Amino acid sequence: MTIKIRKFDTLIIGAGGGGLRAALQLARADAKVAVVSKVFPTRSHTVAAQGGLNAALANVSPDNWHFHMFDTVKGSDYLGDQDAIEYMCRSAPKVVYELDHFGVPFSRREDGNIYQRAFGGQSQDYGGEQASRTCAAADRTGHAILHTLYQQNIAAKTHFFDEYFAIDLIKDEEGYILGAIALEIETGEPIIIEAKTTLIATGGAGQLFRTCTNALINTGDGMAMALRAGIPLQDMEFFQFHPTGIAGKGMLITEGVRGEGGYLVNVDGERFMERYAPRAKDLASRDIVSRAIAIEIREGRGCGPDKDHVFLKVDHIGADIIKKRLPGIRDLAMTFAHIDPIESAIPVYPTAHYTMGGIPTNRQGQVVVPEMEGPEEPVPGLYAAGECACVSVHGANRLGGNSLLDILVFGRAAANHIISHLEANRYHRQMDMDSVEKSLTRLARWDKKGEGESVPELRTEFRKVMEDHCGVFREHSVLEKGLEKVKVLRQRLQNARLKDHSKIFNTARIEAMELENLMDVGIATVASALARTESRGAHSRMDYTERDDTNWLKHSLYFESGRLDYKPVRLKPITVDPFPLKPRVY
Ligand SMILES: Cc1cc2nc3c(=O)[nH]c(=O)nc-3n(C[C@H](O)[C@H](O)[C@H](O)COP(=O)(O)OP(=O)(O)OC[C@H]3O[C@@H](n4cnc5c(N)ncnc54)[C@H](O)[C@@H]3O)c2cc1C
Repeated sequence: MTIKIRKFDTLIIGAGGGGLRAALQLARADAKVAVVSKVFPTRSHTVAAQGGLNAALANVSPDNWHFHMFDTVKGSDYLGDQDAIEYMCRSAPKVVYELDHFGVPFSRREDGNIYQRAFGGQSQDYGGEQASRTCAAADRTGHAILHTLYQQNIAAKTHFFDEYFAIDLIKDEEGYILGAIALEIETGEPIIIEAKTTLIATGGAGQLFRTCTNALINTGDGMAMALRAGIPLQDMEFFQFHPTGIAGKGMLITEGVRGEGGYLVNVDGERFMERYAPRAKDLASRDIVSRAIAIEIREGRGCGPDKDHVFLKVDHIGADIIKKRLPGIRDLAMTFAHIDPIESAIPVYPTAHYTMGGIPTNRQGQVVVPEMEGPEEPVPGLYAAGECACVSVHGANRLGGNSLLDILVFGRAAANHIISHLEANRYHRQMDMDSVEKSLTRLARWDKKGEGESVPELRTEFRKVMEDHCGVFREHSVLEKGLEKVKVLRQRLQNARLKDHSKIFNTARIEAMELENLMDVGIATVASALARTESRGAHSRMDYTERDDTNWLKHSLYFESGRLDYKPVRLKPITVDPFPLKPRVY
Protein backbone atom coordinates (compact mmCIF):
# COMPACT_ATOMS: atom_id res chain seq x y z
CA MET A 1 0.00 0.00 0.00
CA THR A 2 1.28 3.48 -0.78
CA ILE A 3 0.94 5.93 1.99
CA LYS A 4 0.99 9.71 1.83
CA ILE A 5 4.01 11.41 3.36
CA ARG A 6 4.26 15.07 4.38
CA LYS A 7 7.48 16.60 5.73
CA PHE A 8 7.92 19.36 8.28
CA ASP A 9 10.61 20.75 10.57
CA THR A 10 8.36 20.16 13.56
CA LEU A 11 5.23 18.16 14.13
CA ILE A 12 3.06 19.19 17.06
CA ILE A 13 0.45 16.66 18.13
CA GLY A 14 -2.31 18.63 19.85
CA ALA A 15 -3.79 22.08 19.31
CA GLY A 16 -4.62 23.04 22.91
CA GLY A 17 -2.90 25.96 24.60
CA GLY A 18 0.37 24.02 24.94
CA GLY A 19 0.56 22.97 21.29
CA LEU A 20 -0.53 26.33 19.93
CA ARG A 21 1.85 28.36 22.10
CA ALA A 22 4.74 26.19 20.88
CA ALA A 23 3.55 26.37 17.26
CA LEU A 24 3.37 30.14 17.36
CA GLN A 25 6.93 30.47 18.65
CA LEU A 26 8.17 28.14 15.91
CA ALA A 27 6.15 29.63 13.06
CA ARG A 28 7.35 33.11 14.00
CA ALA A 29 10.93 31.78 13.84
CA ASP A 30 10.21 30.63 10.27
CA ALA A 31 10.20 26.92 11.08
CA LYS A 32 7.91 24.78 8.93
CA VAL A 33 5.48 23.59 11.58
CA ALA A 34 2.48 21.25 11.40
CA VAL A 35 -0.17 20.94 14.10
CA VAL A 36 -2.32 17.81 14.14
CA SER A 37 -5.54 17.80 16.13
CA LYS A 38 -8.27 15.22 16.36
CA VAL A 39 -10.83 18.01 16.76
CA PHE A 40 -10.95 21.49 15.29
CA PRO A 41 -8.20 23.35 17.25
CA THR A 42 -10.48 25.73 19.15
CA ARG A 43 -12.47 22.77 20.49
CA SER A 44 -9.44 21.52 22.47
CA HIS A 45 -10.03 21.25 26.21
CA THR A 46 -8.10 24.45 26.96
CA VAL A 47 -11.19 26.24 25.69
CA ALA A 48 -13.07 25.10 28.80
CA ALA A 49 -10.63 26.58 31.34
CA GLN A 50 -12.57 29.03 33.43
CA GLY A 51 -10.76 30.63 36.34
CA GLY A 52 -7.48 31.91 34.92
CA LEU A 53 -3.71 31.66 35.14
CA ASN A 54 -1.29 32.59 37.89
CA ALA A 55 1.41 35.23 37.65
CA ALA A 56 2.80 37.41 40.41
CA LEU A 57 1.86 40.74 38.80
CA ALA A 58 0.89 42.23 42.18
CA ASN A 59 -2.03 44.12 40.64
CA VAL A 60 -4.42 43.29 43.47
CA SER A 61 -2.32 42.07 46.44
CA PRO A 62 1.40 42.48 47.22
CA ASP A 63 3.15 39.65 45.39
CA ASN A 64 6.37 38.38 43.82
CA TRP A 65 7.42 35.24 41.94
CA HIS A 66 9.16 33.80 45.01
CA PHE A 67 5.85 33.74 46.98
CA HIS A 68 4.32 32.03 43.96
CA MET A 69 7.16 29.51 43.97
CA PHE A 70 6.72 28.83 47.70
CA ASP A 71 2.98 28.20 47.23
CA THR A 72 3.59 25.87 44.29
CA VAL A 73 6.25 23.83 46.12
CA LYS A 74 3.99 23.52 49.16
CA GLY A 75 0.94 22.80 46.98
CA SER A 76 2.89 19.98 45.28
CA ASP A 77 3.41 18.41 48.73
CA TYR A 78 7.15 18.78 48.02
CA LEU A 79 7.09 16.34 45.10
CA GLY A 80 7.45 19.10 42.49
CA ASP A 81 10.93 19.70 41.03
CA GLN A 82 12.02 23.04 42.45
CA ASP A 83 14.16 24.06 39.45
CA ALA A 84 11.20 23.69 37.09
CA ILE A 85 8.89 25.46 39.55
CA GLU A 86 11.31 28.36 39.86
CA TYR A 87 11.55 28.62 36.08
CA MET A 88 7.74 28.61 35.71
CA CYS A 89 7.02 31.18 38.41
CA ARG A 90 9.74 33.55 37.19
CA SER A 91 8.50 33.30 33.59
CA ALA A 92 4.83 33.80 34.50
CA PRO A 93 4.55 37.62 34.28
CA LYS A 94 6.33 37.63 30.91
CA VAL A 95 4.04 34.94 29.54
CA VAL A 96 0.94 36.86 30.67
CA TYR A 97 2.12 40.14 29.13
CA GLU A 98 2.86 38.29 25.89
CA LEU A 99 -0.71 36.96 25.88
CA ASP A 100 -1.97 40.46 26.53
CA HIS A 101 -0.01 41.68 23.50
CA PHE A 102 -1.27 38.78 21.35
CA GLY A 103 -4.75 40.13 22.09
CA VAL A 104 -6.17 38.07 24.97
CA PRO A 105 -9.04 40.19 26.37
CA PHE A 106 -8.17 40.00 30.08
CA SER A 107 -10.65 41.45 32.59
CA ARG A 108 -9.37 44.80 33.86
CA ARG A 109 -9.29 46.73 37.10
CA GLU A 110 -10.42 50.31 37.18
CA ASP A 111 -6.79 51.45 36.92
CA GLY A 112 -6.49 49.55 33.61
CA ASN A 113 -4.28 46.76 34.97
CA ILE A 114 -5.13 43.08 34.49
CA TYR A 115 -7.70 41.83 37.02
CA GLN A 116 -6.46 39.06 39.35
CA ARG A 117 -8.66 36.89 41.56
CA ALA A 118 -7.87 34.83 44.64
CA PHE A 119 -7.43 31.09 44.08
CA GLY A 120 -6.72 28.14 46.36
CA GLY A 121 -3.28 27.76 47.94
CA GLN A 122 -2.18 31.36 47.18
CA SER A 123 -0.45 33.33 49.90
CA GLN A 124 1.52 36.50 50.50
CA ASP A 125 4.82 36.35 52.28
CA TYR A 126 5.36 32.54 52.32
CA GLY A 127 2.15 31.28 53.88
CA GLY A 128 0.67 34.57 55.16
CA GLU A 129 -2.48 36.39 54.03
CA GLN A 130 -4.45 35.20 50.98
CA ALA A 131 -2.98 36.47 47.69
CA SER A 132 -4.87 37.30 44.47
CA ARG A 133 -2.66 35.96 41.71
CA THR A 134 -4.95 34.52 39.03
CA CYS A 135 -5.25 36.60 35.85
CA ALA A 136 -8.69 36.14 34.38
CA ALA A 137 -10.83 36.92 31.37
CA ALA A 138 -14.17 36.72 33.27
CA ASP A 139 -14.73 32.97 33.80
CA ARG A 140 -13.80 32.09 30.22
CA THR A 141 -10.03 32.53 30.35
CA GLY A 142 -9.17 29.37 28.40
CA HIS A 143 -11.59 30.35 25.65
CA ALA A 144 -9.96 33.75 25.32
CA ILE A 145 -6.44 32.29 25.27
CA LEU A 146 -7.12 29.45 22.83
CA HIS A 147 -8.94 31.60 20.28
CA THR A 148 -6.26 34.28 20.42
CA LEU A 149 -3.45 31.74 19.96
CA TYR A 150 -5.29 30.11 17.07
CA GLN A 151 -5.74 33.44 15.28
CA GLN A 152 -2.08 34.32 15.80
CA ASN A 153 -1.05 30.93 14.38
CA ILE A 154 -3.19 31.48 11.30
CA ALA A 155 -1.45 34.81 10.82
CA ALA A 156 1.96 33.16 11.28
CA LYS A 157 1.12 30.47 8.68
CA THR A 158 1.22 27.40 10.92
CA HIS A 159 0.02 24.41 8.92
CA PHE A 160 -3.01 22.72 10.53
CA PHE A 161 -4.14 19.13 10.04
CA ASP A 162 -7.62 19.49 11.53
CA GLU A 163 -9.46 16.31 12.46
CA TYR A 164 -6.50 13.99 12.06
CA PHE A 165 -6.02 11.31 14.71
CA ALA A 166 -2.37 10.58 15.60
CA ILE A 167 -1.92 6.85 16.10
CA ASP A 168 1.72 6.37 17.00
CA LEU A 169 5.17 7.90 17.03
CA ILE A 170 7.62 6.70 14.41
CA LYS A 171 10.88 5.65 16.03
CA ASP A 172 13.95 4.32 14.24
CA GLU A 173 16.32 1.63 15.48
CA GLU A 174 18.65 4.14 17.06
CA GLY A 175 15.79 5.57 19.09
CA TYR A 176 15.23 8.79 17.10
CA ILE A 177 11.66 9.99 16.77
CA LEU A 178 10.92 10.75 13.13
CA GLY A 179 7.35 12.06 13.34
CA ALA A 180 4.07 10.22 13.64
CA ILE A 181 1.52 8.26 11.74
CA ALA A 182 -1.99 9.70 11.73
CA LEU A 183 -5.40 8.94 10.33
CA GLU A 184 -7.43 11.48 8.39
CA ILE A 185 -10.75 11.09 10.18
CA GLU A 186 -12.93 12.11 7.25
CA THR A 187 -11.48 9.63 4.74
CA GLY A 188 -9.93 6.99 7.00
CA GLU A 189 -6.62 7.29 5.14
CA PRO A 190 -3.38 6.98 7.07
CA ILE A 191 -0.64 9.53 6.54
CA ILE A 192 2.99 9.76 7.63
CA ILE A 193 3.92 13.15 9.02
CA GLU A 194 7.67 13.20 8.97
CA ALA A 195 9.47 15.73 11.15
CA LYS A 196 12.92 16.52 12.51
CA THR A 197 11.34 17.17 15.88
CA THR A 198 8.00 16.06 17.35
CA LEU A 199 6.18 17.69 20.26
CA ILE A 200 3.45 15.78 22.06
CA ALA A 201 0.81 18.20 23.43
CA THR A 202 -2.20 15.93 23.65
CA GLY A 203 -3.57 17.07 27.03
CA GLY A 204 -4.77 15.02 29.99
CA ALA A 205 -6.65 11.80 30.57
CA GLY A 206 -9.67 12.93 32.61
CA GLN A 207 -11.86 10.42 30.76
CA LEU A 208 -10.31 7.74 32.97
CA PHE A 209 -13.05 8.42 35.51
CA ARG A 210 -16.82 8.22 35.14
CA THR A 211 -17.46 11.61 36.72
CA CYS A 212 -15.07 14.20 35.35
CA THR A 213 -14.74 17.77 34.16
CA ASN A 214 -12.81 16.82 31.05
CA ALA A 215 -13.87 16.82 27.41
CA LEU A 216 -14.67 13.47 25.75
CA ILE A 217 -11.45 13.79 23.75
CA ASN A 218 -9.18 13.74 26.82
CA THR A 219 -8.20 10.10 26.52
CA GLY A 220 -4.47 10.27 27.19
CA ASP A 221 -3.51 9.35 23.61
CA GLY A 222 -0.08 10.99 23.75
CA MET A 223 0.79 9.29 27.04
CA ALA A 224 -0.15 5.90 25.61
CA MET A 225 1.86 6.62 22.44
CA ALA A 226 4.87 7.40 24.63
CA LEU A 227 4.41 4.13 26.55
CA ARG A 228 4.33 2.18 23.30
CA ALA A 229 7.53 3.95 22.23
CA GLY A 230 9.29 2.64 25.34
CA ILE A 231 8.98 5.82 27.41
CA PRO A 232 7.74 5.48 31.00
CA LEU A 233 4.96 7.60 32.51
CA GLN A 234 5.86 9.59 35.60
CA ASP A 235 3.81 10.09 38.81
CA MET A 236 0.59 8.68 37.37
CA GLU A 237 -0.85 7.94 40.84
CA PHE A 238 -1.39 11.66 41.34
CA PHE A 239 -4.74 12.54 39.82
CA GLN A 240 -6.54 15.68 40.91
CA PHE A 241 -10.16 15.56 42.00
CA HIS A 242 -11.62 19.05 41.87
CA PRO A 243 -13.79 19.73 44.91
CA THR A 244 -16.60 21.51 43.10
CA GLY A 245 -18.10 19.54 40.24
CA ILE A 246 -21.88 19.82 39.76
CA ALA A 247 -23.17 16.93 41.89
CA GLY A 248 -24.03 13.81 39.89
CA LYS A 249 -22.86 15.41 36.62
CA GLY A 250 -19.22 16.40 37.09
CA MET A 251 -19.08 19.72 35.19
CA LEU A 252 -16.64 22.11 36.74
CA ILE A 253 -17.60 25.04 38.93
CA THR A 254 -14.35 27.01 39.00
CA GLU A 255 -12.41 27.65 42.18
CA GLY A 256 -12.80 31.29 41.11
CA VAL A 257 -16.29 31.11 42.63
CA ARG A 258 -14.72 30.60 46.04
CA GLY A 259 -12.09 33.20 45.08
CA GLU A 260 -14.91 35.70 44.57
CA GLY A 261 -16.28 34.93 48.06
CA GLY A 262 -18.36 31.75 47.63
CA TYR A 263 -18.11 29.07 50.34
CA LEU A 264 -19.11 25.47 51.07
CA VAL A 265 -21.76 24.40 53.59
CA ASN A 266 -22.99 21.02 54.84
CA VAL A 267 -26.53 19.94 55.72
CA ASP A 268 -26.43 21.93 58.97
CA GLY A 269 -25.49 25.08 57.06
CA GLU A 270 -22.04 24.88 58.70
CA ARG A 271 -19.02 26.38 56.87
CA PHE A 272 -17.17 23.14 57.45
CA MET A 273 -13.87 24.13 55.79
CA GLU A 274 -13.15 26.23 58.88
CA ARG A 275 -12.57 22.94 60.71
CA TYR A 276 -10.25 21.43 58.09
CA ALA A 277 -8.21 24.51 57.12
CA PRO A 278 -8.65 27.19 59.79
CA ARG A 279 -6.66 29.84 57.90
CA ALA A 280 -7.26 29.26 54.21
CA LYS A 281 -10.75 27.78 54.73
CA ASP A 282 -12.48 27.32 51.35
CA LEU A 283 -9.31 28.35 49.54
CA ALA A 284 -7.15 25.54 50.91
CA SER A 285 -5.59 23.47 48.15
CA ARG A 286 -7.83 21.19 46.10
CA ASP A 287 -6.83 17.82 47.53
CA ILE A 288 -7.65 19.06 51.03
CA VAL A 289 -11.05 20.53 50.10
CA SER A 290 -12.01 17.40 48.10
CA ARG A 291 -11.19 15.12 51.03
CA ALA A 292 -13.10 17.38 53.43
CA ILE A 293 -16.24 17.13 51.27
CA ALA A 294 -15.89 13.35 51.02
CA ILE A 295 -15.52 13.07 54.81
CA GLU A 296 -18.54 15.35 55.50
CA ILE A 297 -20.66 13.12 53.29
CA ARG A 298 -19.27 9.91 54.70
CA GLU A 299 -20.05 11.09 58.23
CA GLY A 300 -23.67 11.83 57.33
CA ARG A 301 -23.53 15.61 56.94
CA GLY A 302 -24.25 15.60 53.19
CA CYS A 303 -27.17 17.50 51.66
CA GLY A 304 -30.15 16.42 49.56
CA PRO A 305 -32.43 13.37 49.94
CA ASP A 306 -29.48 10.97 49.55
CA LYS A 307 -27.09 13.13 51.58
CA ASP A 308 -24.65 12.78 48.71
CA HIS A 309 -23.40 16.33 48.08
CA VAL A 310 -22.66 19.63 49.81
CA PHE A 311 -23.65 23.16 48.77
CA LEU A 312 -21.54 25.94 47.32
CA LYS A 313 -23.16 29.16 48.45
CA VAL A 314 -22.71 32.21 46.21
CA ASP A 315 -25.95 34.20 46.38
CA HIS A 316 -24.49 36.50 49.07
CA ILE A 317 -21.86 37.95 46.70
CA GLY A 318 -24.57 39.71 44.73
CA ALA A 319 -26.11 39.53 41.28
CA ASP A 320 -23.77 42.18 39.85
CA ILE A 321 -20.54 40.33 40.58
CA ILE A 322 -22.03 37.01 39.51
CA LYS A 323 -23.13 38.47 36.18
CA LYS A 324 -19.88 40.31 35.56
CA ARG A 325 -17.27 37.85 36.80
CA LEU A 326 -19.01 34.46 36.74
CA PRO A 327 -21.45 34.51 33.81
CA GLY A 328 -20.34 31.10 32.49
CA ILE A 329 -20.78 29.49 35.90
CA ARG A 330 -24.29 30.89 36.17
CA ASP A 331 -25.09 29.37 32.75
CA LEU A 332 -23.65 25.99 33.76
CA ALA A 333 -25.55 25.93 37.07
CA MET A 334 -28.81 26.86 35.37
CA THR A 335 -28.38 24.28 32.60
CA PHE A 336 -27.07 21.33 34.58
CA ALA A 337 -28.15 21.88 38.21
CA HIS A 338 -31.36 23.75 37.29
CA ILE A 339 -30.73 26.50 39.82
CA ASP A 340 -29.76 30.16 39.50
CA PRO A 341 -26.76 30.83 41.78
CA ILE A 342 -28.01 34.39 42.26
CA GLU A 343 -30.82 32.84 44.32
CA SER A 344 -29.74 29.36 45.49
CA ALA A 345 -26.65 27.39 46.43
CA ILE A 346 -25.07 25.01 43.88
CA PRO A 347 -25.00 21.26 44.78
CA VAL A 348 -21.39 20.06 44.39
CA TYR A 349 -19.24 16.93 44.75
CA PRO A 350 -15.55 16.22 43.88
CA THR A 351 -14.97 15.35 40.22
CA ALA A 352 -11.92 14.00 38.36
CA HIS A 353 -10.12 16.97 36.87
CA TYR A 354 -6.41 16.94 36.16
CA THR A 355 -3.59 14.50 35.33
CA MET A 356 -0.57 15.56 37.38
CA GLY A 357 1.56 12.75 35.97
CA GLY A 358 2.60 12.23 32.37
CA ILE A 359 5.51 12.00 29.95
CA PRO A 360 8.73 12.89 31.81
CA THR A 361 10.44 16.00 30.46
CA ASN A 362 13.13 18.45 31.48
CA ARG A 363 12.67 22.23 31.65
CA GLN A 364 13.33 22.57 27.92
CA GLY A 365 10.45 20.22 27.14
CA GLN A 366 12.76 17.40 25.98
CA VAL A 367 11.36 13.97 26.80
CA VAL A 368 13.83 12.28 29.11
CA VAL A 369 14.05 8.65 30.05
CA PRO A 370 15.41 9.00 33.53
CA GLU A 371 17.63 6.76 35.53
CA MET A 372 17.85 6.57 39.32
CA GLU A 373 21.60 7.11 39.02
CA GLY A 374 23.34 9.25 36.43
CA PRO A 375 22.13 11.91 34.02
CA GLU A 376 18.74 11.90 32.33
CA GLU A 377 18.92 10.96 28.67
CA PRO A 378 16.78 12.94 26.21
CA VAL A 379 14.90 10.89 23.62
CA PRO A 380 16.32 12.35 20.38
CA GLY A 381 13.80 14.44 18.44
CA LEU A 382 11.02 14.14 21.01
CA TYR A 383 9.42 16.85 23.17
CA ALA A 384 6.28 17.05 25.30
CA ALA A 385 4.45 19.97 26.88
CA GLY A 386 1.15 20.68 28.59
CA GLU A 387 -1.04 18.37 30.61
CA CYS A 388 0.33 15.24 28.90
CA ALA A 389 3.81 16.06 30.22
CA CYS A 390 5.27 15.82 33.71
CA VAL A 391 8.05 18.35 34.10
CA SER A 392 7.23 18.28 37.17
CA VAL A 393 5.83 21.55 38.45
CA HIS A 394 2.68 20.19 40.09
CA GLY A 395 4.19 17.26 41.99
CA ALA A 396 1.50 15.50 44.00
CA ASN A 397 -1.12 18.25 43.69
CA ARG A 398 -1.60 21.08 41.21
CA LEU A 399 -2.66 24.53 42.35
CA GLY A 400 -5.55 26.09 40.47
CA GLY A 401 -4.37 28.52 37.79
CA ASN A 402 -0.99 26.80 37.44
CA SER A 403 -1.93 24.57 34.51
CA LEU A 404 -2.72 27.26 31.96
CA LEU A 405 0.57 28.74 33.10
CA ASP A 406 2.41 25.43 32.74
CA ILE A 407 1.18 24.81 29.18
CA LEU A 408 2.21 28.29 28.04
CA VAL A 409 5.58 28.45 29.82
CA PHE A 410 6.69 24.99 28.75
CA GLY A 411 5.08 25.12 25.29
CA ARG A 412 7.18 28.22 24.71
CA ALA A 413 10.33 26.72 26.29
CA ALA A 414 10.05 23.54 24.21
CA ALA A 415 9.70 25.61 21.04
CA ASN A 416 12.80 27.62 21.92
CA HIS A 417 14.81 24.44 22.40
CA ILE A 418 13.43 23.02 19.15
CA ILE A 419 14.53 26.17 17.30
CA SER A 420 18.13 25.66 18.43
CA HIS A 421 17.93 21.93 17.65
CA LEU A 422 16.74 22.71 14.12
CA GLU A 423 19.66 25.06 13.59
CA ALA A 424 22.06 22.22 14.38
CA ASN A 425 20.11 19.45 12.59
CA ARG A 426 19.14 20.61 9.15
CA TYR A 427 18.24 17.35 7.46
CA HIS A 428 15.57 14.70 7.90
CA ARG A 429 16.80 11.27 8.91
CA GLN A 430 15.98 8.17 6.91
CA MET A 431 12.33 7.09 7.38
CA ASP A 432 11.87 3.81 9.24
CA MET A 433 9.15 1.84 7.45
CA ASP A 434 9.23 -1.03 9.99
CA SER A 435 8.02 1.33 12.67
CA VAL A 436 5.27 2.58 10.32
CA GLU A 437 4.20 -1.02 9.59
CA LYS A 438 3.81 -1.71 13.30
CA SER A 439 1.33 1.13 13.76
CA LEU A 440 -0.56 0.11 10.65
CA THR A 441 -0.99 -3.38 12.11
CA ARG A 442 -2.53 -1.83 15.19
CA LEU A 443 -4.87 0.14 12.97
CA ALA A 444 -5.73 -2.95 10.92
CA ARG A 445 -7.14 -4.66 14.04
CA TRP A 446 -9.94 -2.09 13.92
CA ASP A 447 -10.69 -2.64 10.24
CA LYS A 448 -12.73 -5.62 11.36
CA LYS A 449 -15.91 -5.23 13.28
CA GLY A 450 -15.08 -7.82 15.97
CA GLU A 451 -17.45 -10.18 17.76
CA GLY A 452 -17.24 -9.57 21.51
CA GLU A 453 -18.71 -6.88 23.74
CA SER A 454 -19.19 -3.39 22.33
CA VAL A 455 -16.50 -0.76 22.74
CA PRO A 456 -18.85 1.81 24.37
CA GLU A 457 -20.01 -0.81 26.93
CA LEU A 458 -16.43 -1.61 27.87
CA ARG A 459 -15.64 2.05 28.12
CA THR A 460 -18.50 2.62 30.58
CA GLU A 461 -17.45 -0.36 32.68
CA PHE A 462 -13.80 0.67 32.69
CA ARG A 463 -14.49 4.24 33.84
CA LYS A 464 -16.70 2.96 36.65
CA VAL A 465 -13.97 0.56 37.81
CA MET A 466 -11.46 3.43 37.85
CA GLU A 467 -13.84 5.57 39.90
CA ASP A 468 -14.66 2.81 42.38
CA HIS A 469 -11.10 1.55 42.81
CA CYS A 470 -8.83 4.56 42.38
CA GLY A 471 -10.83 7.61 43.56
CA VAL A 472 -10.33 10.28 46.24
CA PHE A 473 -9.53 7.70 48.97
CA ARG A 474 -7.46 4.59 48.20
CA GLU A 475 -6.55 1.35 49.93
CA HIS A 476 -4.39 -1.69 49.12
CA SER A 477 -7.06 -4.36 48.61
CA VAL A 478 -9.36 -2.04 46.62
CA LEU A 479 -6.51 -0.91 44.36
CA GLU A 480 -5.30 -4.48 43.93
CA LYS A 481 -8.74 -5.63 42.78
CA GLY A 482 -8.99 -2.55 40.57
CA LEU A 483 -5.71 -3.37 38.86
CA GLU A 484 -6.85 -6.92 38.16
CA LYS A 485 -10.15 -5.64 36.75
CA VAL A 486 -8.58 -3.06 34.42
CA LYS A 487 -6.14 -5.64 33.11
CA VAL A 488 -8.99 -8.03 32.34
CA LEU A 489 -10.94 -5.23 30.66
CA ARG A 490 -7.88 -4.48 28.54
CA GLN A 491 -7.85 -8.09 27.35
CA ARG A 492 -11.58 -8.06 26.70
CA LEU A 493 -11.05 -5.02 24.49
CA GLN A 494 -8.96 -7.12 22.09
CA ASN A 495 -12.13 -8.98 21.09
CA ALA A 496 -14.46 -6.06 21.28
CA ARG A 497 -17.00 -5.19 18.66
CA LEU A 498 -17.19 -1.75 17.03
CA LYS A 499 -20.40 0.22 17.37
CA ASP A 500 -23.26 -1.38 15.41
CA HIS A 501 -23.58 0.21 12.02
CA SER A 502 -23.96 -1.44 8.64
CA LYS A 503 -20.40 -0.38 7.83
CA ILE A 504 -17.39 0.60 9.87
CA PHE A 505 -17.17 4.32 10.55
CA ASN A 506 -13.83 5.93 11.27
CA THR A 507 -15.28 7.43 14.40
CA ALA A 508 -15.93 3.90 15.71
CA ARG A 509 -12.35 2.88 14.95
CA ILE A 510 -11.09 5.97 16.72
CA GLU A 511 -13.33 5.31 19.73
CA ALA A 512 -11.72 1.89 20.00
CA MET A 513 -8.16 3.21 19.72
CA GLU A 514 -8.93 5.93 22.26
CA LEU A 515 -10.18 3.31 24.68
CA GLU A 516 -7.00 1.27 24.17
CA ASN A 517 -5.01 4.38 25.04
CA LEU A 518 -7.19 5.20 28.02
CA MET A 519 -6.91 1.68 29.40
CA ASP A 520 -3.11 1.68 29.10
CA VAL A 521 -2.97 4.98 30.97
CA GLY A 522 -5.47 3.60 33.51
CA ILE A 523 -3.31 0.56 34.21
CA ALA A 524 -0.31 2.88 34.74
CA THR A 525 -2.41 4.96 37.16
CA VAL A 526 -3.67 2.10 39.31
CA ALA A 527 -0.34 0.25 39.34
CA SER A 528 1.52 3.38 40.45
CA ALA A 529 -1.12 4.10 43.12
CA LEU A 530 -0.95 0.55 44.46
CA ALA A 531 2.81 0.74 44.84
CA ARG A 532 2.96 4.09 46.66
CA THR A 533 2.39 3.26 50.32
CA GLU A 534 2.05 6.80 51.69
CA SER A 535 -0.40 9.71 51.46
CA ARG A 536 0.91 12.73 49.60
CA GLY A 537 -1.06 15.47 47.86
CA ALA A 538 -3.89 14.02 45.83
CA HIS A 539 -2.83 10.41 46.53
CA SER A 540 -4.62 9.60 49.76
CA ARG A 541 -4.20 6.09 51.18
CA MET A 542 -6.50 5.01 54.00
CA ASP A 543 -3.97 2.35 55.00
CA TYR A 544 -0.95 4.71 54.90
CA THR A 545 -2.31 8.04 56.06
CA GLU A 546 0.97 9.94 56.50
CA ARG A 547 3.46 11.43 54.09
CA ASP A 548 6.63 9.34 54.20
CA ASP A 549 9.60 11.44 53.09
CA THR A 550 12.12 8.80 54.12
CA ASN A 551 10.89 6.22 51.64
CA TRP A 552 8.71 8.08 49.14
CA LEU A 553 10.21 11.44 48.31
CA LYS A 554 10.69 10.24 44.74
CA HIS A 555 8.96 10.24 41.38
CA SER A 556 7.51 7.02 40.10
CA LEU A 557 8.03 5.76 36.57
CA TYR A 558 5.69 3.19 35.04
CA PHE A 559 6.86 1.25 31.97
CA GLU A 560 4.61 -0.49 29.42
CA SER A 561 5.83 -3.88 30.64
CA GLY A 562 4.34 -3.16 34.08
CA ARG A 563 7.72 -2.44 35.67
CA LEU A 564 7.92 0.44 38.14
CA ASP A 565 11.04 2.44 38.77
CA TYR A 566 11.74 5.64 40.68
CA LYS A 567 13.88 8.77 40.36
CA PRO A 568 14.76 11.49 42.85
CA VAL A 569 12.85 14.75 43.22
CA ARG A 570 14.96 17.76 42.18
CA LEU A 571 14.95 19.73 45.41
CA LYS A 572 17.51 22.31 44.27
CA PRO A 573 16.18 25.40 42.48
CA ILE A 574 18.28 27.28 39.89
CA THR A 575 19.22 30.51 41.64
CA VAL A 576 17.55 30.56 45.05
CA ASP A 577 17.67 28.41 48.18
CA PRO A 578 15.44 25.35 48.29
CA PHE A 579 12.21 25.41 50.28
CA PRO A 580 12.76 22.79 52.98
CA LEU A 581 10.21 20.07 53.60
CA LYS A 582 7.50 20.91 56.13
CA PRO A 583 4.16 19.46 57.16
CA ARG A 584 1.53 20.92 54.86
CA VAL A 585 -1.14 22.88 56.74
CA TYR A 586 -3.47 25.57 55.41
C1 LIG B 1 -13.24 22.39 32.77
C2 LIG B 1 -11.80 22.74 32.99
C3 LIG B 1 -11.47 23.97 33.53
C4 LIG B 1 -10.12 24.29 33.75
N1 LIG B 1 -9.82 25.51 34.27
C5 LIG B 1 -8.52 25.85 34.45
C6 LIG B 1 -8.17 27.15 34.93
O1 LIG B 1 -9.00 28.01 35.16
N2 LIG B 1 -6.85 27.42 35.11
C7 LIG B 1 -5.87 26.51 34.84
O2 LIG B 1 -4.70 26.83 35.03
N3 LIG B 1 -6.19 25.28 34.38
C8 LIG B 1 -7.47 24.94 34.17
N4 LIG B 1 -7.79 23.70 33.69
C9 LIG B 1 -6.71 22.81 33.25
C10 LIG B 1 -6.17 23.29 31.91
O3 LIG B 1 -7.19 23.90 31.18
C11 LIG B 1 -5.61 22.14 31.10
O4 LIG B 1 -4.69 21.43 31.86
C12 LIG B 1 -4.89 22.67 29.85
O5 LIG B 1 -5.71 23.55 29.13
C13 LIG B 1 -4.42 21.54 28.96
O6 LIG B 1 -3.89 22.08 27.79
P1 LIG B 1 -3.10 21.18 26.74
O7 LIG B 1 -2.63 22.11 25.66
O8 LIG B 1 -2.09 20.38 27.45
O9 LIG B 1 -4.18 20.17 26.18
P2 LIG B 1 -5.67 20.32 25.60
O10 LIG B 1 -6.17 21.70 25.62
O11 LIG B 1 -6.46 19.27 26.27
O12 LIG B 1 -5.47 19.94 24.07
C14 LIG B 1 -5.13 18.64 23.66
C15 LIG B 1 -5.03 18.62 22.15
O13 LIG B 1 -4.52 17.37 21.74
C16 LIG B 1 -5.26 16.90 20.64
N5 LIG B 1 -5.15 15.44 20.63
C17 LIG B 1 -5.24 14.57 21.66
N6 LIG B 1 -5.06 13.31 21.24
C18 LIG B 1 -4.83 13.38 19.91
C19 LIG B 1 -4.58 12.43 18.91
N7 LIG B 1 -4.52 11.11 19.16
N8 LIG B 1 -4.42 12.86 17.63
C20 LIG B 1 -4.49 14.18 17.32
N9 LIG B 1 -4.73 15.13 18.25
C21 LIG B 1 -4.89 14.73 19.51
C22 LIG B 1 -6.66 17.42 20.86
O14 LIG B 1 -7.38 17.47 19.65
C23 LIG B 1 -6.34 18.81 21.41
O15 LIG B 1 -6.12 19.69 20.33
C24 LIG B 1 -9.12 23.36 33.45
C25 LIG B 1 -9.45 22.13 32.91
C26 LIG B 1 -10.78 21.81 32.71
C27 LIG B 1 -11.10 20.45 32.18
